[in-house]
Amino acid sequence: MPVSNFNAGPAVLPRVVLERAQSELLDYQGRGMSILEMSHRSKEYEAINKSAETRFKALLGLGDDYRVLLMQGGASAQFALLALNFLRPGTLADYVITGSWGEKALEEARRIGEVHVAATMAEGGYRTVPSAAELHLSEHPTYLHLTSNETIQGVQWAAFPESGEIPLVADMSSDILSRPFDATKFSLIYAGAQKNIGPAGVTVVLIQQHFLDQARAEVPTIFSYKTHAKNNSLYNTPPVFAVYMLDLVLGWIESLGGLTAIAERNAAKAGLIYAAIDQSNGFYQGHAETSARSQMNVTFRLADQALEKAFLAEAQGQGMVGLAGHRSVGGVRASIYNALEHEACADLAQFMSLFAQKHG
Ligand SMILES: *Cc1c(COP(=O)(O)O)cnc(C)c1O
Repeated sequence: MPVSNFNAGPAVLPRVVLERAQSELLDYQGRGMSILEMSHRSKEYEAINKSAETRFKALLGLGDDYRVLLMQGGASAQFALLALNFLRPGTLADYVITGSWGEKALEEARRIGEVHVAATMAEGGYRTVPSAAELHLSEHPTYLHLTSNETIQGVQWAAFPESGEIPLVADMSSDILSRPFDATKFSLIYAGAQKNIGPAGVTVVLIQQHFLDQARAEVPTIFSYKTHAKNNSLYNTPPVFAVYMLDLVLGWIESLGGLTAIAERNAAKAGLIYAAIDQSNGFYQGHAETSARSQMNVTFRLADQALEKAFLAEAQGQGMVGLAGHRSVGGVRASIYNALEHEACADLAQFMSLFAQKHG
């Protein structure tokens, strides 16, 4: 029996996409073999590669001045590659820290070059994002890095800061393509696919050509953004099946009506669960401040660990899985990415109300 999958990542995928992949698994478009068995130099794969790139840019409304790179190593590899490609001796990069993933990005860049913390929300326990006045940028940073949605704390930027001439870079692993935003403000965006747009194995990097031109040439070939751009993400063997799935998911987002439609759907879903928190008279304690609540990862606590354990067990018994908070912070986290159905969120909200009545 299918369950409601609230896992943080790898995460739920659109049912129609899984069915499509199943239906063509053994024989891809009449070729008598699986896409899993095909050369990445075949015209079939080249079409998938091209389609994923075109769809990704179309969904974000971007033109020829942006490149889409389909890479491997996850967002964690991007933490290092970003610094490796752009931090030269004598330069530095600014980081805004709104949670655990921002911390990781910062620490990795620190191993490679000089960094400056433009703002950190650590003291408040990562419940919100900084205001413009709280951002203290260095004089000429090579780039300004932020995490659009902190997956572990459930903190999301509602609107992005103005960075002026400074190239803005974002880790959007857990909210990419979940809502419309002005992507032209960003010089580089990266996202592991396995939260919102596909299976694990492929990492999407969107990069402005002008910024790419400034990347260092002297990094190892396979770690150079320029290599992947020059070779249209086909420098070496790509994760063929993951890119194929990514392309199907992008097609599914198009079929729903694009980012405006998906954002409405996501806001309605998140609204149900936040309402259950807000109407519980303190039985559930939301982690994020209201203005920075994530539409993707809803984080909350109950009075004590025993009650949280009971909550998770009872939810699991009703087919709602993956609700335990990240092992570093505990509590409860409902990850409600693009592909999770409205009904799953309605069921969870109802379960929360009943559980609160019973134990409150
Ligand atoms: C999951 C996640 C990562 C790490 O992704 P990997 O693909 O496992 O390296 C980084 N940043 C954010 C925001 C994430 O949600």
